[in-house]
Amino acid sequence: MQMTVERISYLHESEIDIFMNTIKHALQPGIDTEALEVRRAVTLIRNGSVGPYRFDTSDDAVLVTLLGVESEHVRLSFDRIATNCTCGSDTWCSHRLAVVFHLYSQFHSLTDWLHEWRRTDAQKMMLSISERTPKAWINVLSRLTLPLRSISLTENPGVFIHESSLIDQKVVPLSPFEWEWKPLFELYYRLHILDAGWTYVSGHLGGDTKSFFHGKWYVQNWLVEQLDKLRDSVTAIGAKPKLFEADAFHEHIKDLVRTFSLHNSELFDERFSVYRLFWQHLFPMDAAWNDELAILANEKSEEAHIFIAFFSLLQGKHDQLSKLVDNVSADNVATWLPLAHLAESYEETETLAIIMKALLPFIGDYLKQDVPLANRPFFVRDIDGLLEAADFSEEARESMFAYYGESGVDVYADFLVERERFTEWAALMHRYGVSYEEAEEGGLKVALSTEPTAVMPLLHTYAMHFIKEKNRHSYRRAVKLFKKMKIGSKKSGKTDFWNQYIDAVREKNRRLRALMEEMEKGNLNL
Ligand SMILES: [Zn+2]
Repeated sequence: MQMTVERISYLHESEIDIFMNTIKHALQPGIDTEALEVRRAVTLIRNGSVGPYRFDTSDDAVLVTLLGVESEHVRLSFDRIATNCTCGSDTWCSHRLAVVFHLYSQFHSLTDWLHEWRRTDAQKMMLSISERTPKAWINVLSRLTLPLRSISLTENPGVFIHESSLIDQKVVPLSPFEWEWKPLFELYYRLHILDAGWTYVSGHLGGDTKSFFHGKWYVQNWLVEQLDKLRDSVTAIGAKPKLFEADAFHEHIKDLVRTFSLHNSELFDERFSVYRLFWQHLFPMDAAWNDELAILANEKSEEAHIFIAFFSLLQGKHDQLSKLVDNVSADNVATWLPLAHLAESYEETETLAIIMKALLPFIGDYLKQDVPLANRPFFVRDIDGLLEAADFSEEARESMFAYYGESGVDVYADFLVERERFTEWAALMHRYGVSYEEAEEGGLKVALSTEPTAVMPLLHTYAMHFIKEKNRHSYRRAVKLFKKMKIGSKKSGKTDFWNQYIDAVREKNRRLRALMEEMEKGNLNL
């Protein structure tokens, strides 16, 4: 028979307590798969998927249906304190947990229970962290941050953020009491949580940048926040004299940073920024750099080459860099660009020139294959800026515009206007059918006041276009253009040419009476 969940919970309070106790000891929050089942169970309850309840009086048992993509049926026997589920799992699956939790939550706080369940694990961690060695710290922090690793990409960002903030709370009592150790512990913690969350974060933010979903913003914020906190603790440590006992901890950081930066994928810019943060602020000495370089030499990835090239930049070793850029290809342009930007920001012109020279043959292909259409104009401007900063010749910069095509029109237009090459500028506007509004925002005004004859044919095209629209408003716009052309003609001493031209326009369109009126008002002859 049907029975409400409140009534069942009321009638079997003590049996439910036994179930809850069994769960408490059977499952451990530190074990990935078990913590995941608990989280899933909580989600099932939150989504209202548990129920309806049917009571089987013959066996003192309830039958509960869990609605979902694949509905399951759970049988809970109060007589025998036993459970069954149609999902086929022989241990505590999320469905069975959901039913027990649901019953328990009728008269108790499930949140409190979960908190308590997680705390027992935290106490175990406290004991192991009391030993002050890098290994003990790494061991505990790896376990603490483990739940973040198991969050599936399909899971809502809210779940990820929630799990991360739970871990944030759990780490507080683990932190050392002595203030001088706190920043170092915080640093270890941030590196661990960043590494643990990376698969989820990079899965959402990396790769196809066009994809958008509403939770992306949360994930982005999380990443920015972690990187900020990491930077803060590096600054806090860098500013203080080192404790003698901390030496071993500092040595281990190098491995942690290298592993995080090199052995994760996607979002290279961010990983590279973490790597630089440590090597520039925490270990800014040549000797340490050389040790690191020896280790990097054994790494095969192109990203490792960038890290080596980064030290070449810091140490001013241009010949080492020249060898490294041999590996540049269309596939790794994106990997090399962050280093180019870094060289630009340091005004290391020679380094930047070496990198850009190597990148140049692949820029065109990379643009077409990998840069999303919407980002291309920005990309072209960026590359042209880097070439300029690297002291490339004007000819070399200009020759690149042929590869950029339409994506580069804006930048090329600016390039031509800056050099007062208005005839070519006008030809570019023609060729790509740039609208009058865009041309006006670009170089039209400067061209008209400097070299009006260069843009006459272009203005003519626009004016004819307006006339074709055949309405009073567009006629006025055409006449406005004619006025500009008139001033330009006067300035360049082409009075006769102008009068012939405007008469011809009038003659050709004399049947458009509204246009004739507007032209009359415009007083267009010279
Ligand atoms: Zn199940």
